Amino acid sequence: MGWTCGTCGYCRPGRENLCPEARFTGYQIYGGYARYSVADERYCFAIDDRFSDAEAAPLMCTGLIGYRTLRMAGDARRIGIYGFGAAAHIAAQVCRHEGRELYAFTRPGDVQAQAFARRITGGWAGGSDEIPPEPLDAALIFAPVGDLVPAALKATAPGGVVVCGGIHMSDIPAFPYELLWMERTLRSVANLTRRDGDAFLALAPGIPIVTEVTTFPLGKANEALASLREGRLSGAAVLLPDGP
Ligand SMILES: [Zn+2]
Repeated sequence: MGWTCGTCGYCRPGRENLCPEARFTGYQIYGGYARYSVADERYCFAIDDRFSDAEAAPLMCTGLIGYRTLRMAGDARRIGIYGFGAAAHIAAQVCRHEGRELYAFTRPGDVQAQAFARRITGGWAGGSDEIPPEPLDAALIFAPVGDLVPAALKATAPGGVVVCGGIHMSDIPAFPYELLWMERTLRSVANLTRRDGDAFLALAPGIPIVTEVTTFPLGKANEALASLREGRLSGAAVLLPDGP
């Protein structure tokens, strides 16, 4: 988020992530893929020296969205994570730091992603078609797959929350009301506030968050996207403007 109006009904009470005038770097503001960029300093964060540029890159956007998605889960103890990619591998480390139990769900049969998830979470990992050994208090969905919504509701205990962390998702199929019944909550997360950024970036070096990155030169951006789509990457892909 590179700019918000500061005066609307969302900005004033600190919900600037919902500002209808908000502008985003790399979207409405130039500079997302450049070596240098002009930025409004009110929307910049200090990066701890502990992180190299490539290690720090996933903290922004994906790490922050993962963090905000997790915050929407409140104090849930058993957390399920659907789609174990860049956002999940960061949110999972915050979960462990906070002493929560983690259950990771990947594409059915993706044993490599499940092994990666187990290594990061220290907990159960399985396919998204499986029911975890214990009912979840909250489910975080990072994969853009609408079918995961009823699957996650099914795995969630009464009173639990299912949080969709993505910007886009395929259509959510119809599901029986009993999956939502018993005060389960279904919600999405949009963008982030600067308060989220300050809180997360203050927390990250202390845990410390370790980001697993695969770097690509900017010219290989399409290759990076293909690797992500085909599930060939663990953790985050990072584009280097100065890449080799
Ligand atoms: Zn506003």
